[in-house]
Amino acid sequence: MHEYRNLEYRNYIGGQWVPAQSGEWMESIEPATGQVIGRVPKSGPDDVAAAVEAAKAAFESWRLTPAPKRGEILFRVARLLEERKEELARFMAVEMGKVLPEARGDVQEAIDMAYYMAGEGRRLFGKTVHSELPNKSCWSERAPIGVVGVITPWNFPIAIPSWKILPALICGNTVVFKPASDTPMLGAEFVKIFEEAGLPPGVLNLVTGPGGRVGQALVEHPDVKVISFTGSTESGRQVATAAATQLKKVALELGGKNAILVMDDANLDLALEAVIWSAFGTTGQRCTACSRLILHRAIKDEFTERLVEATRRLKLGHGLDPETDVGPVINAAALRKIHAYTGIAQQEGATVLVGGRVWENGGGFFYEPTLFDGVAPHFRVAQEEIFGPCLSIITADSLEEAIKINNSVAYGLSSSLFTQDVNRAFQAIRDFSSGLVYINHGTIGAETHLPFGGTNDTGNGTREAAWTALDTFSEWKTVYVDWSGRLQRAQIDTHDEA
Ligand code: NAD
Repeated sequence: MHEYRNLEYRNYIGGQWVPAQSGEWMESIEPATGQVIGRVPKSGPDDVAAAVEAAKAAFESWRLTPAPKRGEILFRVARLLEERKEELARFMAVEMGKVLPEARGDVQEAIDMAYYMAGEGRRLFGKTVHSELPNKSCWSERAPIGVVGVITPWNFPIAIPSWKILPALICGNTVVFKPASDTPMLGAEFVKIFEEAGLPPGVLNLVTGPGGRVGQALVEHPDVKVISFTGSTESGRQVATAAATQLKKVALELGGKNAILVMDDANLDLALEAVIWSAFGTTGQRCTACSRLILHRAIKDEFTERLVEATRRLKLGHGLDPETDVGPVINAAALRKIHAYTGIAQQEGATVLVGGRVWENGGGFFYEPTLFDGVAPHFRVAQEEIFGPCLSIITADSLEEAIKINNSVAYGLSSSLFTQDVNRAFQAIRDFSSGLVYINHGTIGAETHLPFGGTNDTGNGTREAAWTALDTFSEWKTVYVDWSGRLQRAQIDTHDEA
């Protein structure tokens, strides 16, 4: 089906492609077949130290490069990503497993982010305000911070690194990037584009390897001033704890347990399409995936019947096969975890309406799209992130009850309501406790020029994308220029004179 075999990638440190200092390698496995497709360095703390040193050395000249000039390189990144979109998408369908149209979307997100952040090179707005004293000027401007550590998951192998690396670079920081261990080769392909776009050596560095070794070394390195992390809540907690002792700035984008609410007045055709797309798109492996469906009792039976039919029609297969609706899950451990939740759901009293089984295809990691019915809001399948193609159906008698159920989880990423009633829509917008709210649209589909992130255990209050991404990668420098020629004392001279 494809030509990706026996590939080899290396770390990228100070503008050189180098193996791990230990000489160790780790394999990258194609989830649709279980076959090894290539290898990357299994790096350790020494490699991280070398990369941080290169990034630190490059920081001095990069921070002094005018932001519009930094932006010009990012415009070239955007154009190269456009040229390579199909090639990268096909490779993503192999190394990560998502279906080709979604893989194209993943790369498109990086293209959009590259154009947006390149444009920021000519903005990076600060604020100018009036002084309380005469002949004195004050303003606040964004200053770069230093070396940024970027740690990413496998589910958006190009898009998520782009959300972090591009804003970090436009602000004038240098970066050490550790991609997920399941998609390290896509991480390397992304870095190659920056090299080709003319980014100076050392400004962006790549170190592949296990999270507990390479990720942790990056978090603990004293010269890494910012950590931008996307992954599970469990790993995020470890990262935040380790970084806290050094008072590092940490941005965390973590798990979700998102819901779609369908009211009795909803357009059910539209809601059905959105539920299928949100629950089973990317095989349910999106942080914004819908994993709870809260149905108004009046439409529950009709909607469930239609949903069962639509779910049964979904075709499993390789991401490159145009017939495939749902690709594999990422690896064998994920498959075991997902299947364990089917057992847990049944033990708790839920019914499996469709799926609930591993799909054997001779080596790949596939799970049948699964519907759990009769789920109570407190069941583990309604509270914990499964990160697979599994949807729990919960019944509610009113919008108020449905919102309460929606908000009853530890996470707070994305919530969606289907209704034709504008009053109900505004009530939900006000009362949903998540960072993202959708009306008459599923839980997935964020745009790069709007803030992205969640509340509660989904993160620590930072937001990615848009202008808000700049807050993670810059610090405010406040400047006072007194051109009065005399010592003017703020708070004292102004008030004494009055
Ligand atoms: P993960 O936490 O296992 O790994 C994420 C990254 O962190 C990987 O690169 C991993 O190697 C590294 N890592 C693991 N332990 C580490 C440690 N102790 N120190 C430093 N680095 C460490 O997550 P995953 O399985 O790759 O991704 C799935 C998770 O990511 C899900 O929970 C999903 O909801 C979440 N996610 C969140 C968002 C968001 O924006 N909120 C987006 C996508 C995915």
